[in-house]
Amino acid sequence: MNILKNTAFLLLTLLIVSCSTTKKEKKTIPTYANDTHSYAKPNEAVAKHLQLDINVNFDKKNISGTATYTIENYVGTEIVFDAKNLKIQKATVDGNEVKYTLGANDAVLGQALTIPISASSKEVAITYETTDKTEALQFLNPQQTADKEHPFLLTQGQAILTRTWIPIQDSPQIRLTYNANVQVPKDLLAIMSAENPKAKNENGQYSFKMKQPISPYLIALAVGDLVYKEISPRTGVYAEKSMIDKVHYEFADMEKMVNAAESLYGAYAWDQFDVVVLPPSFPFGGMENPRLTFATPTVIAGDRSLTSLVAHELAHSWSGNLVTNATWNDFWLNEGFTVYFEMRIMEALYGKEYANMLASIGRQDLAEEIENFKNQPEATHLKLDLKGKNPDDGMNSIAYDKGYLFLRTLEVTVGRAKMDVFLKEYFNKNAFSTMTTEKFIDYLNTELLQKNNIDFNVDNWVYKAGIPKNAVKIQSDKFQKVEEAIEQWEKGTIKEEELCKKNWNIQQKIHFIRNIPVGISLEKFTKLDTACNFSNATNSYIAMVWFEQAINHDYHANNVDTHIDNFLMTVGRRWYVSTLYKAFKRNNRLEDAKRIYEKARPNYHSVTVNTIDAMLEVY
Ligand SMILES: [Zn+2]
Repeated sequence: MNILKNTAFLLLTLLIVSCSTTKKEKKTIPTYANDTHSYAKPNEAVAKHLQLDINVNFDKKNISGTATYTIENYVGTEIVFDAKNLKIQKATVDGNEVKYTLGANDAVLGQALTIPISASSKEVAITYETTDKTEALQFLNPQQTADKEHPFLLTQGQAILTRTWIPIQDSPQIRLTYNANVQVPKDLLAIMSAENPKAKNENGQYSFKMKQPISPYLIALAVGDLVYKEISPRTGVYAEKSMIDKVHYEFADMEKMVNAAESLYGAYAWDQFDVVVLPPSFPFGGMENPRLTFATPTVIAGDRSLTSLVAHELAHSWSGNLVTNATWNDFWLNEGFTVYFEMRIMEALYGKEYANMLASIGRQDLAEEIENFKNQPEATHLKLDLKGKNPDDGMNSIAYDKGYLFLRTLEVTVGRAKMDVFLKEYFNKNAFSTMTTEKFIDYLNTELLQKNNIDFNVDNWVYKAGIPKNAVKIQSDKFQKVEEAIEQWEKGTIKEEELCKKNWNIQQKIHFIRNIPVGISLEKFTKLDTACNFSNATNSYIAMVWFEQAINHDYHANNVDTHIDNFLMTVGRRWYVSTLYKAFKRNNRLEDAKRIYEKARPNYHSVTVNTIDAMLEVY
């Protein structure tokens, strides 16, 4: 039905355009998908370039300034932007102030900001200020940073939060270039998803340029007392002073990762690949902001054991940033491809077995997610229908791990050589454009399956619930050994001390902890902790899975409750904290969850807050 609606609309637009413009001026109207998460009408008028001039005010905890757009104009009556909880002060068209309107406020989408234009309009400027309800921005006080001396600001745009700090046509299918002038306090450095300064200057004024067109959710800003350290001429890291050497050590393989990625799917299109390690309240593991990945400090483990996160964000430089999901219903095109690509990078660097361990962890996550959705099977389709919902609802293991399993099964079916040729061509032909699920399936059918006469149940994977029967089995020999040890431990043929002495890597330890049998006695559980000291784990991933098991097993010895409290008070990574709050809830300890959450909530970013509020049914 949507396709029909769009076609009718397009015909009408074509008619209007051909009536109102001469043959010479006739513009090609791009086709856009129906994005129910944006008010923008790009078929009528669309922004192509943004000039952003802003001040970051730490005292007021807001951003104020002007967003000036160069537009492409097909109909010439109005241009519609998305704005959420913004104070709009003025709108001008080609320098002349105009009367704008703000539509009704929707709790998820915000408001439509409509600005009248004419057929000849070229530039629209909006002067505005953010409010204390902005969801993208998180202003941190010095106490919440690593160095504890200066405040910090970070933004998170995905999925539809950019509209809470910039009035913008906030649909992933809209691509624009941007330049920015950002004024920050003199003792802080500003960096963006753009060409970046590598050191502080004296006046706190920084200019940025992103010359490749990107989707609005990828516009990002971080402001703090940051320093830069190069890894290779085109890769490097930003972090606070006390963290920079640790971060530099942890991510030493970044250039190797870029090389591995390029040899698979073609040249890196964004020139520079840097990572900034943020304070622990950052709600995600990483965010693939082009040229400047944002990362959580929880992956700085000291032993390079959690760096697959960097491979993941790097992989997004192709899947996501170069070829972008057209709407959030197509999110699996961003994430499924990225997990597949991440595993290929990790395999190229550290071997098949390592990649299989990572994939096995994802496979277990997927099984758990499908169980979570047992009363909501349509949520396990790859292609989603998130109309009327927050697109964050679709950001779960289905897009990532079912998407991965689909592509890996496809790879095994068609053979790796053909798969690689297909994917390289796919990224090359569709670079700097957006992709719907339907367009991808068409492309897959013609360019891979029909060409090679291969029968594959694509629709089953994409439009049906659960995991199709032809899914490949993911096996890891090292995990097999862990599972054997668990069996022996359960039978009592191996002691806890011996388990701890095994030369297991981090992934094996994680697999072990996650698979501790439900019925194991509290005595054995306690002995295990005393022997292996998991309650004091410094690796954040180990700590998280152990704390989850401690809650599951009603375990309270070795000060574990205090450790869980501290963890939830400092870390704001949504995946970690939601796992633990969920465990409390599942084990009838909602009161404990609420007690900790009340203290911890002010430390979390709105992305995490929204999830936990809903989970614990508070606020
Ligand atoms: Zn991702």
